Amino acid sequence: MARDSAKTLTTRTTSGERPQVVVVGGGFGGVAAAQALRSLPVDVTVVDRDNYHGFWPLLYQVATAALGPGDIAHNIRGIFWGQTNVDARMATVTGVDLDSRRVELDTGPPLLYDWLILAAGSVNDSFGVPGVAENGFPLKSLPDAMALRNHLLEHFERAHTDPGLVDAGFLTVVVAGGGPTGVEISGALAELFRVLGRDFPGLDVGRASVVLVEMGDHLLNGFHASSQAEALRTLRSRGVEVRLGTRIAEARPDGVTFDDGSVVPTKTLVWAAGVRANPLADVLGVEQGRSGTVVVADDLSVPGHPEVFVIGDMAGFANAKGPLPMVAPVAQQGARHAATCIRARLDGRSNRPFRYRDKGKMATVGRHSAVAELPLGIRLGGTPGWLSWLGLHLVLLVGARNRAAVLLNWAWNYVTWDRGNRIILRLRGDSPDDG
Ligand SMILES: Cc1cc2nc3c(=O)[nH]c(=O)nc-3n(C[C@H](O)[C@H](O)[C@H](O)COP(=O)(O)OP(=O)(O)OC[C@H]3O[C@@H](n4cnc5c(N)ncnc54)[C@H](O)[C@@H]3O)c2cc1C
Repeated sequence: MARDSAKTLTTRTTSGERPQVVVVGGGFGGVAAAQALRSLPVDVTVVDRDNYHGFWPLLYQVATAALGPGDIAHNIRGIFWGQTNVDARMATVTGVDLDSRRVELDTGPPLLYDWLILAAGSVNDSFGVPGVAENGFPLKSLPDAMALRNHLLEHFERAHTDPGLVDAGFLTVVVAGGGPTGVEISGALAELFRVLGRDFPGLDVGRASVVLVEMGDHLLNGFHASSQAEALRTLRSRGVEVRLGTRIAEARPDGVTFDDGSVVPTKTLVWAAGVRANPLADVLGVEQGRSGTVVVADDLSVPGHPEVFVIGDMAGFANAKGPLPMVAPVAQQGARHAATCIRARLDGRSNRPFRYRDKGKMATVGRHSAVAELPLGIRLGGTPGWLSWLGLHLVLLVGARNRAAVLLNWAWNYVTWDRGNRIILRLRGDSPDDG
C-alpha cells in the first residue's frame, strides 16, 4: 500500500515498505490514536504545532494559579518512548490535499500518507459578538491560560497601587458561558480572590467579583436538574453572581454590555461560551456540519475517502441520541475506533460503525463541591462528587510526573489555602526592560 513517493517525502527513516499513518494533532484524540496503532505494521507520524500534549480539563487551574503549565502538559515525544513505530513532527498543518494524500506543513517537507487521522481539535468561537475576539480571554491553550493568569494578577497589583481602579472594574471578572468550563473557572476565581485577600491586605479584595453569564435558564446544560441546581447554589454561596437568561451584546476594553442594556465595568471577560471545529476543517473541501465540524461516515471516515478519519472535536458525528459532545472521551474512543478500522482494512475486513459509550460527566465548583453523573444513573454531589472528580482527573492525566505534581499542588492548596503559582510570568517582549 505504501507508495514510492511517500518514501521520498516523509521524514521517517525506518519506513521501509510499511504503510504511513499521519495523525494530525497530539491531543486527546491524536495521542490515543497513535497509541492504539502500537501493534500494527504501520509507521505513524504525529504532527502537532506544539511539542506537548495538553490536559485541557485542568487548564482553568493554570489560569487561576492552582497549577503550573508544566503540570498539565506532557512532551509528545516522551509519551511515545518505547513505541518504536511512532515519530513526532512539530509543525502546523496548513492544508491537506485529499486527492494526492498529502499533508502540508508550515515548516519542512509535506507528509504523504496511506492513512490519515485528523484530530486537530477545536478553537474558540465568539459567535460574532462584537468585541469578543479583541477583548475577550479565550481558554483553549496554555498561552491562553498564562495570559489570563498574568492579566488577573497584574490588575490586582495595579488596583493595589491605585484603589480607584476598582470602580473601573479592575477586580471584576465576567465569565461568559455556564457550561463546565465557565462553572469551574468561576468557582476557582472565587477561591483565588480569597488567597489574594492575604496578598493585598491594604486592598478591599472583598470588592473583587465574578459575574457568570449564561444565556440559557440553567447552568451545566445537559446535566440533571439536581446537578444544575447544586452548581448554581454553590457558586452563589461562594459569592459568584450568576446571571441566567442573559446574553452578552458587546465586549469593550472597559466593560461588557448585556442584552438588557446593563453594563458591567470590567477589564476581564473570560470567553467560555463556545467553540467550533479547528479551521483546518474549512480547507479540506468536504462537507461541514454543526460548528464547522467535518461530516463523517458512521465509521468516522470522510465520505469518498475511506483512508481519512476525523475524530474528536473536529468530527461531526451523531449517534441515536444526536450529535456527540466535544469532550475527551469522544475523541479517545473515536481514536481507538479509527485504529481498529485501519487494522480491519489491513486484514482485508470491513469496518464497523463507531459506537460511543457515554461513561458520564462531571464538573467541579471548587473545594468540596462537584457534580458527577455516572453510568447506571449514579449521581454524586458535594464532597463525594468532588473526590471522584479529583480521582478521575488524576488518573486521566498523562505521565506519572504530572500526576505527582498535580497531587502535590492540590494537597498544598487544600491544606494551606494557598495558590503557589500566582506569579506574573512575563514573556520576552512583555517586560519593561525589553525595550
Ligand atoms: C478549558 C477546557 C476544559 C475542558 N474540560 C473538559 C472536561 O472536563 N472533560 C472533557 O471530557 N472534556 C473537556 N474539554 C474538552 C476536551 O478537552 C476536548 O473535547 C478534547 O481535547 C478533544 O480532543 P481532540 O483530540 O479533538 O483535540 P485536542 O485535545 O484539543 O487536540 C488537538 C491538538 O491539535 C493540535 N493542533 C491544532 N491545530 C493544529 C494544526 N493546524 N497543526 C498541527 N497541530 C494542530 C493542538 O496543538 C492540539 O494538541 C475541555 C476543553 C477545554 C478547552
